Amino acid sequence: MNAVVPGMERKDKGARSLPLGLTAELTYRCPLACPYCSNPADLAQRTGEMTTEEWISVIDQAADMGILHFHFTGGEPATRRDLPELVAAARGRDLYTNLITSGVGLTRERVKGLADAGLDHLQLSVQGVDAASADAVGGYKGGFERKMAVAGWVTEEGLPLTVNAVMHRHNLDRLEETITLALSLGARRMEVATVQFHGWAERNRDALMPTRAQVDAATATVRAARERLKGRLVIDYVPGDYYATVPKACMGGWGLKTLTITPEGLALPCHAAQSLPHLSFQSVREVPLRDIWLEGPAFQAYRGQEWMREPCTTCAHRERDFGGCRCQALALAGDAAEADPACSRSPHHGAMVALAGAASTSGVTEWRYRPAVGKS
Ligand code: SF4
Ligand code: SF4
Repeated sequence: MNAVVPGMERKDKGARSLPLGLTAELTYRCPLACPYCSNPADLAQRTGEMTTEEWISVIDQAADMGILHFHFTGGEPATRRDLPELVAAARGRDLYTNLITSGVGLTRERVKGLADAGLDHLQLSVQGVDAASADAVGGYKGGFERKMAVAGWVTEEGLPLTVNAVMHRHNLDRLEETITLALSLGARRMEVATVQFHGWAERNRDALMPTRAQVDAATATVRAARERLKGRLVIDYVPGDYYATVPKACMGGWGLKTLTITPEGLALPCHAAQSLPHLSFQSVREVPLRDIWLEGPAFQAYRGQEWMREPCTTCAHRERDFGGCRCQALALAGDAAEADPACSRSPHHGAMVALAGAASTSGVTEWRYRPAVGKS
């Protein structure tokens, strides 16, 4: 799962500042099977989740480093029975705790238990606006109904609720209804994220790629909704960058603000970084978190600007977008040190736009589901 959470800003913005946020992928297990899941493609080979004690050590190290936000995600983090214990440990170290969940696996009692443990905020993913469309995307019958119930329990507990909606060709035309659904569930914030083509989504690009017209309409819908719902609903929007001209500031800068820990303890500068096969990632089971962040080769690889090439080296935007996404650069330009092809100055931009156009009009309607993994 992906997440953007509103955050406090720290003033020290130097390239070797300590991070503001940590995303803990507690498990890759999930009862759902979304075709755009950002979990790695080789899920079947992944074993060896960290224990409760190992995660509490990560929480302690994060707090000692001055990290402010701790995001629990997965897979489905609620499949971990120790979730309330981990939330309590993070809260006990004054970390802001955020749970990113599909809702499946939560009960009324478990939501109360998480609130009692000190959970600060919950992000609930929705795959569609009704049971038929949502359950078809999630590959899980009854998922939509459970999500609706979870939203009610969350607001009853007084927990702030954000609705996360991943949008693609098959649901973008219902964005307005999705915003209405988020409002009706009592969300104060919504994350509208056009699908990013990493992980399983890359495999399903032809089936999921929106058309340019859909992306343009979505941008207009979000703009109008933000105006109309000012003071009621904050909408964070991740536009589809295949039709962009300027790339997104991926992760707010590589090794600059946040990091991700995988279920087996690998520390990543970005949740998709394992798609860069030339990088090796250190484990928090073997190396202190602070050392990984400050000196780890994967974190150093694209930190700052020394790795950049033209056109980024001389571009005024490099402080703002950091050359875009390294994973997208490798996937579409063949080298992770190239400018993100989402940038109109990239020599690969035209090919990216052509690829998006072809995928969006491919006529492919069936996708390959991510396997619903159940064991640790
Ligand atoms: S399958 Fe869906 S709900 Fe489960 S982790 Fe992946 S994106 Fe999230
Ligand atoms: S040239 Fe590089 S720094 Fe400039 S906008 Fe494009 S990706 Fe960003």
